[in-house]
Amino acid sequence: MMNQLYHGAHQDHRVATMDFQLNDPSLLKYQGFIDGRWLDAADTQTFAVSNPANGQHLGDVANMGAAQTGIAIEAAQAAQTAWQAESAQARSAILERWHQLVIDNQADLARIMTIEQGKPLCESMGEIAYGAAFIKWFSEEGKRVYGSTLPAAQSDRRAIAIKQPVGVVAAITPWNFPHAMITRKVAPALAVGCTVVLKPAAETPFSALALAELARRAGVPAGVFNVVPGIDAAAIGGELTRNPRVRKLTFTGSTPVGKLLMQQCAATVKRTSMELGGNAPLIIFDDADLNMAMAGVLLSKFRNSGQTCICSNRIIVQDGIYDEFVTRLAAAVAEFRFGDGLDAASTHGPLISAQAAAGIHAKVEDAVARGANVVSGGRISDLGSHFYEPTILTNVDHTMAVFREEIFGPVAPIFKFSTEEQAIAMANDTEFGLAAYFYSESIARSWRVAEALEYGMVGVNETAISSEVIPFGGIKESGQGREGSKFGLDDYLEIKYICMGGLNR
Ligand code: NAP
Repeated sequence: MMNQLYHGAHQDHRVATMDFQLNDPSLLKYQGFIDGRWLDAADTQTFAVSNPANGQHLGDVANMGAAQTGIAIEAAQAAQTAWQAESAQARSAILERWHQLVIDNQADLARIMTIEQGKPLCESMGEIAYGAAFIKWFSEEGKRVYGSTLPAAQSDRRAIAIKQPVGVVAAITPWNFPHAMITRKVAPALAVGCTVVLKPAAETPFSALALAELARRAGVPAGVFNVVPGIDAAAIGGELTRNPRVRKLTFTGSTPVGKLLMQQCAATVKRTSMELGGNAPLIIFDDADLNMAMAGVLLSKFRNSGQTCICSNRIIVQDGIYDEFVTRLAAAVAEFRFGDGLDAASTHGPLISAQAAAGIHAKVEDAVARGANVVSGGRISDLGSHFYEPTILTNVDHTMAVFREEIFGPVAPIFKFSTEEQAIAMANDTEFGLAAYFYSESIARSWRVAEALEYGMVGVNETAISSEVIPFGGIKESGQGREGSKFGLDDYLEIKYICMGGLNR
């Protein structure tokens, strides 16, 4: 990551240079959280965090490294036995309080998020509610971890299977959803009796640290939830994956980093859950309700300025409606107002960094060099280096980076197809398999296409597919494991078989 490093010999380096104007300023933390205590980096180093909308320096956060990650793991290990021994009801009560505190502080948490991540305030409010819902959901689901009694193979024995927490969990999360990607992991882990060491993204540590403060206030015991901020991701990740006390790694981020972490976890055979990159197709058939499809595209392509793992990446439109769709999409996109997320007039915020904008522009240039037409946008915005103009590309094909790679920005390449078979083949022509969407009014086609798409999640006539009740996750190189839903606990549980013998005496 690109944040600047300071040698912070003085405490002053940790003070905010900007007033976040929070109702509760004590939610802003600049230190790491280990074993229930707020701590500076051992060498007092800090790193700078800035607002992507305007580059303003927000404050300096403790830059922890491998050694303090090891200390956090030790604290989590020490807390594991007692936390695991608590009743599910007792853990649930603490999670309920945590949920309530997040809801009570929704406005402040949303403000922190918009200022450090850039998304419009209404999207941040939505993410806090979404993230809080996972805490509530898993506070309830944690009470329903059922085992099984099994018909034994011998008459003098009885066989049962019980479920137990995996133990210390390491979690690594990205900047695009700085709140919900944490609660989706930490809530199920804590609910079943695991302890957690979290490394949040260096761009967005304040959202993570505020969550830790609310967890502390809710009564999460010391050592059960630890947050290690820092910009040396390889060092922190190296310790989290090398340390044998960590029994599981849960990661959300890019596919290349996920692959690296899986390799690193192999040495100690850790369980892993991987929520990785996507390349979502959104297919619009001739028989679709075009108004509904248009609304779905605007939401799924441009939410968070195109920076979500389930953003539609490739819009695939049948030839009979292609021209009308492009015209209507261009008109709708012209209504967008990009700007500072705190400005109520902004419909969309900045990208996370100038480097991200430059990477998106490189993909657009690649498409143009291979023959794409730019219908609108196609350049870095006059608003500044962190903003990219909403862009529509036509005359695009499968050789282009916009087809092959995750764009992660407000660029919509519109591909054309003639037959259902072609559409399915185009949609599946990728190593990714996270989310896919399509619009059709035919029930028979809906079942056919939904079953043929090689993705973990499929939205039929809907792109707002995520909530705490559904199993979120991908296949192929988009990852493994599921977050949310009744399945979301499984990743944090081991099955233990117990054989009771000698019963015929
Ligand atoms: P990223 O570069 O992979 O970073 C994600 C996290 O991994 C950050 O905390 C980062 O730390 C850390 N990291 C980077 N290199 C590491 C290493 N060598 N060892 C240990 N940790 C390391 O991804 P990103 O750009 O932040 O996030 C965008 C990606 O996440 C996209 O591909 C998106 O699709 C994916 N995503 C997937 C889901 C899903 O549910 N499938 C959800 C959201 C996002 P630093 O911040 O310090 O670099």
